[in-house]
Amino acid sequence: MAKHQFQTEIGQLLKLMTHSLYSNKEIFIRELISNSSDAIDKFNYMQLTDEAFKSDSWIGEINVKIDDEDNSLTISDNGLGMNEEDLMNNLGTIAKSGTKSFVESLTGDAKKDSNLIGQFGVGFYSVFMVSENVDVITKKAGEDQAFMFSTDGSGEFEIKPVTKDAHGTVIYIKLKEDEKEFLSKWKVQEVIKKYSNHIAYPIMMHFSEDETTGEGDDAVTTKVKKSEQANAATALWTLSKSELKKEDYIEFYKTLSHGDDEPLTYLHNKVEGGQEFTTLFYIPKTAPMDLYRADYQSHVKLYVKRVFITDDDKELLPTYLRFVKGIIDSEDLPLNVSREILQENRILANIKQNATKKILQAIKKLKDDDAVTFIEQYNKVIKEGIFQDHTNKDLLLDIVKYKSSTEEGMVSFADYVSRGDSEKKEIYYIAGEDEKVLRNSPLLEAYKKANIEVLIMADKEIDAIVAPSIGQYKEWSFKDITTIDAPDSKSDEEKEVISKEFKSLTDRLAEVLGDEVKEVKTTSRLTTSPSCVVKDASDPMAGMAHMFAQMGQEMPETPLILEVNPDHAMIQKLDKLENKSTFSDMAWILLDSAKLSEGLEPKDKSSFSARIARVATEAL
Ligand code: ADP
Repeated sequence: MAKHQFQTEIGQLLKLMTHSLYSNKEIFIRELISNSSDAIDKFNYMQLTDEAFKSDSWIGEINVKIDDEDNSLTISDNGLGMNEEDLMNNLGTIAKSGTKSFVESLTGDAKKDSNLIGQFGVGFYSVFMVSENVDVITKKAGEDQAFMFSTDGSGEFEIKPVTKDAHGTVIYIKLKEDEKEFLSKWKVQEVIKKYSNHIAYPIMMHFSEDETTGEGDDAVTTKVKKSEQANAATALWTLSKSELKKEDYIEFYKTLSHGDDEPLTYLHNKVEGGQEFTTLFYIPKTAPMDLYRADYQSHVKLYVKRVFITDDDKELLPTYLRFVKGIIDSEDLPLNVSREILQENRILANIKQNATKKILQAIKKLKDDDAVTFIEQYNKVIKEGIFQDHTNKDLLLDIVKYKSSTEEGMVSFADYVSRGDSEKKEIYYIAGEDEKVLRNSPLLEAYKKANIEVLIMADKEIDAIVAPSIGQYKEWSFKDITTIDAPDSKSDEEKEVISKEFKSLTDRLAEVLGDEVKEVKTTSRLTTSPSCVVKDASDPMAGMAHMFAQMGQEMPETPLILEVNPDHAMIQKLDKLENKSTFSDMAWILLDSAKLSEGLEPKDKSSFSARIARVATEAL
């Protein structure tokens, strides 16, 4: 017999389970049944594909026994079972990095928090909301020795060898005194129906009921043992759409997602003729916690002819759709398809392509609040899609939204185009890391003046890379306003005259600034600012940020062009300034403050302040 200490995080979790997550205790039944169903799935697959486990008589089944005299509930299955090592790894430690983030992400709102339990794969521990102590008696298929794992949930657990005939797992739950409601047949049945109705295996309930025979004085009441099947035991996705109501889909979603939320939308498709497969996908209302973690979990389960194959193949859908939950059930894949084969399987590639299109079309159809919620939760990953998935780029461009210089809220490209100049067919944007900086950029001045809408793309680490890769939307081309001439009312001849007039100033500035700028020139894009910096559009590196990102490299710095506003008093005075050292100070101030406005760093911060101090002193 061996006593063990729970991993620290589990200790924390257990405390939480027993003290905070009290509002939705019934979910422990869902969690244990779901574990049983997974274990049966695994054994089912083994017995169909491995001679050693072949059995003609085995049928997967889950049993729930209520014992009101003993104050206990027993949930058992004839699935894969666990050996000693499995018990240590699966129940004694949390292998996934989930627990810590789980504990960190708790909101204090009991209802929301209990929803998180399933998301983090800590389902088994939910049993401690209702139990005094728990025994897990289990035997792994193909092994001789069975084991019992026992704990009262207070920090220690014990594992010892026991005898058990068949493979599978029995979970014996001694209920707390005040949790007697789970001894009611009606309550347990209700919970099973609610969350586990479409678990594909029968869930048999065993209970005893008082039965009276005879009448009057002869009446005798005895306890009679009874059994009933509590669930429908059909895989929901195998039913036809016409048989299913919205409620059915939503309930199944709760089973699948281990949560209480309703999905934003769902889509159920059967494809027949040629390749045959069924898909059922859900889009959650809130993005999974691990959406931006490199070790995110897949939420799509692959079945072959209703036999569960895997739930951690991240290639079933494109990575940018990693928030989608659901099921793919193929009729054509071989049952014993191996992981390596899955990666490059033509049948699966075809399913993936079909599923991706269907999912994107369903997203595109979202309306009103649902569309808003979708963008709030998933806009960023859709942008990843634009970058990665050229086949579906058009659909993705119809879904993604951006902020705008002229409109409130988020706008789509379709919105933009409907307001834009249909002769020119250009979509203007400015992309960077910080919305405030972009909105205050001097480069926007000319567009504001001309009342031209500019999209503000400020999603950190995404927009600056994705935006240049978009290229076209329908016949409209994307224009980065930091690389193109701004709209203005002056003709080329007028600009030529102004440029000549200020040639000596721009030459002097260029001489002072040396290699820091590629060129200094006059501009008509500014109204209130004296200067701005723009990227050199003719530079071969311009617009290649996405290529560098694809190669996992930092973008080399492209040289900047300093543009000065000839209508600004500062520039006009500077043109006449003869004092060489003040002129040099001012040249650097013009460049550095223009860089600051674009969110760039001045070359040398301390010289920047020193120059301002010198010029200011002189002016005073
Ligand atoms: P999750 O099910 O999300 O992985 P749990 O804490 O509920 O998290 O379970 C941890 C692990 O313990 C499972 O992944 C599984 O490997 C194992 N396990 C739990 N219940 C059973 C069972 N009835 N039969 C076999 N293995 C089980």
